[in-house]
Amino acid sequence: MRLVDSHAHLGAEAFETDRAEVIAEAALAGVERLLVPGWDAGSSAAAVKLTTEFDWIEAAVGVHPHDAATATEADWAAIEHLAADPHVAAIGETGLDFDRMHSPPDAQLANLRRHLRLALDTGKPAILHCRSAAGARDAQDALIGELRAAGLGGVAALRSFGNRPPAILHSFSGPVDYAAAALDMGVAISFSGLVFRRGEEASGAVARLVPGERLLIETDSPYLAPPGVPRGSAPGFSGRRNSPKWVRITGEWLAEQRGESQATIGAGLVAAYDATFRRQPPGQDRPSRS
Ligand SMILES: [Zn+2]
Repeated sequence: MRLVDSHAHLGAEAFETDRAEVIAEAALAGVERLLVPGWDAGSSAAAVKLTTEFDWIEAAVGVHPHDAATATEADWAAIEHLAADPHVAAIGETGLDFDRMHSPPDAQLANLRRHLRLALDTGKPAILHCRSAAGARDAQDALIGELRAAGLGGVAALRSFGNRPPAILHSFSGPVDYAAAALDMGVAISFSGLVFRRGEEASGAVARLVPGERLLIETDSPYLAPPGVPRGSAPGFSGRRNSPKWVRITGEWLAEQRGESQATIGAGLVAAYDATFRRQPPGQDRPSRS
């Protein structure tokens, strides 16, 4: 099955000793596209550096909602500078997390708004994390309000993005009408191993709702290992470390949910990734660094 991983934190410490092997294994498993998002200034710079070592990998630069309160103006200047790199395909990850609340909501909102402006300015889509506490949907509702206020469904987004998605709901979690509201604004949706967790049962219906050209999958490595990832499978890692090759498990789930063959889903995923993250149609060369 052809695969993409639209969100893998290969800069995380969990990959410190075997990053190159993990990337090679992903390629062997059929992963043809891989996007590495940063979560703060340092990890964003590291993600961009990784694209110089592995030419088929894209980076995203931004500040995670967990880090919203501690990011400085210097950090933000660094993110804006990195955002201009041709191998930076997206802005993020950013978003809202009202579950763990590592940063106060006001700081998260200000951080999100900055990223949405940068996405519109650069024409690079925003990668959005969104989690409410179990059973709640306050973060999802707030996010939709912010996307509307930023003009994502409107003329400004059309000018910056054309028919490409202006944002991606990464590691989708939430009710069907939330997904529908985002889809109405042209947003893409990416599913992770989270779909297998209790409480995420709406994901199946959402997977059937997303138009193929805006449908993505990801691992959110090293987090969110889906069922089937063995314990102790990584050096020095006693738990279940997720890595890009395991995106296959979510890919198979997606094919099952949509009642489509793995070949059809796989080809669609690669096309959707290229449409979302690359300016040029698939088959043409990537932009070179200047
Ligand atoms: Zn992430």
